[in-house]
Amino acid sequence: MIVAVTGGAGFIGSHLSEALLAAGSAVHVIDNLSSGYRANVPAGAVLHEADIRSSETRAVIAGIRPEIVYHLAAQADVQRSIADPAEDASVNVEGTLNVLAACREGGARKIVFASTSAVYGNVGKEVVSERDKAEPVSFYGLSKRTAEQYIRIYGQLHGLDYTILRYGNVYGPRQTPKGEGGVVAVFLDRLRQADSPVVHGDGEQTRDFVYVKDIVAANLAALNRGARETLNAGTGRATSVNELLRLLEQCRGVPIARRHAPARAGDIRHSRLDPRRARRILRWSAAYDAIAGIAETYVSTLPSNR
Ligand code: NAD
Repeated sequence: MIVAVTGGAGFIGSHLSEALLAAGSAVHVIDNLSSGYRANVPAGAVLHEADIRSSETRAVIAGIRPEIVYHLAAQADVQRSIADPAEDASVNVEGTLNVLAACREGGARKIVFASTSAVYGNVGKEVVSERDKAEPVSFYGLSKRTAEQYIRIYGQLHGLDYTILRYGNVYGPRQTPKGEGGVVAVFLDRLRQADSPVVHGDGEQTRDFVYVKDIVAANLAALNRGARETLNAGTGRATSVNELLRLLEQCRGVPIARRHAPARAGDIRHSRLDPRRARRILRWSAAYDAIAGIAETYVSTLPSNR
């Protein structure tokens, strides 16, 4: 099977590309390397260095005629979306529209979209399900929500199948200390530099941290399941930033000093995804708990166990 992965030089897209190759697919990565790296693209995948907003992307997809397009390329930084909402919308909305047009021209059967729990905003509930209203509180959440709607309506009008996966906070090897949900990578980066992690606010804010291998598995499950569905891809468990630091302390074997800074604008207080619909429809659930995922990430990031 031929697949295209936009954003395949990034953190999640590169893990997904690896898994698709291992499953025997021909993988074409479309990425402008704005936050991704050439070195992340696995050997065996073809890198097309192009912006998802460009006519080049259209030509590439029309030329390779992929059966599935995994659309992960994005402006994925909440704080940047607040600083420059126009650029965020340009990449995440116009870019998605261009990828949708390319899917049509290239005869793709399906698009699988990397959405986010940020579309929900502050729902004010313990667990957020797909039935809850999506009212984003950042421009990033809004641009992703808008892209979802374009995909849904595109599906209705043009018959393009889709699965929208709303990821929790993804972490794992190769994540850089920037972008969305990067707190694990930020903390590991501080530790690598023998510096103290900075906790914004009181550290009791919680997130649904999901290991990158589980997100890859959800994407693979969406190959043949989840037609025209929008599904949460999370663990269903909440982990606070303070708990995260405790897990890192366990890996490190010594206490970790921390610094405190004010809470950040646009940050959601609590975020935990109800994963039951994905379990039923995709027959997928997260296999890694926070302890296992953090340990694997720690070992691959700080191999010398400093
Ligand atoms: P990432 O920044 O590592 O990957 C994004 C990739 O897209 C990069 O390789 C970048 O170079 C590429 N890209 C950006 N703009 C582009 C453009 N205009 N044209 C072509 N390529 C472009 O981020 P990631 O964490 O791997 O995120 C992948 C996807 O998952 C994004 O859509 C993001 O919104 C979504 N997501 C991530 C998380 C998370 O916790 N990391 C959570 C929810 C959703």
